[in-house]
Amino acid sequence: MKILLIGKNGQVGRELQRTLLPLGELVALGRDGLDLGDLAAVKRVLASQAADVIVNASAYTAVDRAEADEAGAMAVNAVAVGAMAEYARDNGALLMHYSTDYVFDGTKAQPYVEDDATAPQSAYGRSKRAGEEAILASGCKALVFRTSWVFSAHGGNFIKTMLRLAGERDSLNVVADQVGAPTSAELIADVTALALAAYRRGELAGGIYHLAASGATSWHGLASYAIASAKARGAAFKVEPAQIHPIPTEAYPLPAARPKNSRLDTGKLAAALGLQLPDWKIHVDRLIEQIS
Ligand code: NDP
Repeated sequence: MKILLIGKNGQVGRELQRTLLPLGELVALGRDGLDLGDLAAVKRVLASQAADVIVNASAYTAVDRAEADEAGAMAVNAVAVGAMAEYARDNGALLMHYSTDYVFDGTKAQPYVEDDATAPQSAYGRSKRAGEEAILASGCKALVFRTSWVFSAHGGNFIKTMLRLAGERDSLNVVADQVGAPTSAELIADVTALALAAYRRGELAGGIYHLAASGATSWHGLASYAIASAKARGAAFKVEPAQIHPIPTEAYPLPAARPKNSRLDTGKLAAALGLQLPDWKIHVDRLIEQIS
C-alpha cells in the first residue's frame, strides 16, 4: 500500500512521518515538493504518485492572516482539498484529512458532535468547512478528523509562547472565556495510524470524526498548567502564579473571531476504535519534558 503524506513539515505532518511508516510505502512531501496554491501541480503530483492513501496534513493555518487573504486560505484549504477528493474518488484511493473546531460558532453549551450544524465565524473556518464540503460532495472514500488547539514540540505554538513570556514578564493576561481541549500532534498522528489500520481491516466507516484529547480548559488554564508543569521540572520564571490574570476575549482583540466553546465530543471515534483518549494534561507534560 502506497501512502502519500502531504504537509510533512507541519506539527501533525512531522508526527505522521513516524506513525505512518509501519503501514505502507510512505512518500512524504513538503511545500518544496508540492505547493498547494498551484492546482495544476496538485493534480500532476497526485497522478504521478498514484497513492492508495492520501494523508493531507497541510493547511493554511494562519487564522488571523486569513481574514485579509480569504482567497489564499480557500485555495489551500478548499480548492486543493477538492482536487485531492476528486483524485481519490476517480482512482479508488482513501483521503485522510484534518479539520477544525472553527467550523462551529462556539455558542453551544455542550461539546460539539459531528452532526451539529456548522457556522464558521472566520475566513479560516469558512475555508476549512469548504474543504470538508468538497470531500463530502465528491463521494470519495474519506476519513476527516476535526481537532482543536494543536501543539507539538516543533514549530511555534501557544504553550511555547507562554513559557517564553513567563520568563520575561512579571504578569501575564490570558483569555479565560474560550474553552477547548489542547491536543498534541503526537496524539493526532497516533490515532490517524490506528484509524487507517482499522479502515483497511473494514472495521472503521468513512466520514467525519472528532479527534481531541479528553477534558477541557481555557487558554488561561492551559498557560497556568504549562507554567506550573515546567516549574515542577525545575524551570525558573519571572511571573508568579497569582500574576497570571484571566481576561475576557474582548480584552485581547484579534482579527479573526474564535469560538467560545471549542469542545468536541469524541465519543463516535472512541467507540469505533475502542480508544481511551488521554486527558490533555498528559501530552502537555510530555511536551514540557521534550522541550526542557
Ligand atoms: P501547521 O501550520 O503546523 O502545518 C501546516 C503545513 O501546511 C505546514 O507545513 C505548511 O508548510 C503547509 N502548507 C501551508 N500552505 C501550503 C501550501 N500552499 N503548499 C504546501 N504546503 C503548505 O498545521 P498543524 O499541523 O497544526 O495542523 C494540521 C491540521 O490540523 C490542519 O488541517 C489544521 O487546519 C488542523 N487544525 C489545526 C489546529 C491548530 O491549532 N494548529 C486546530 C484545529 C485543526 P510550511 O511549513 O512551508 O509553511
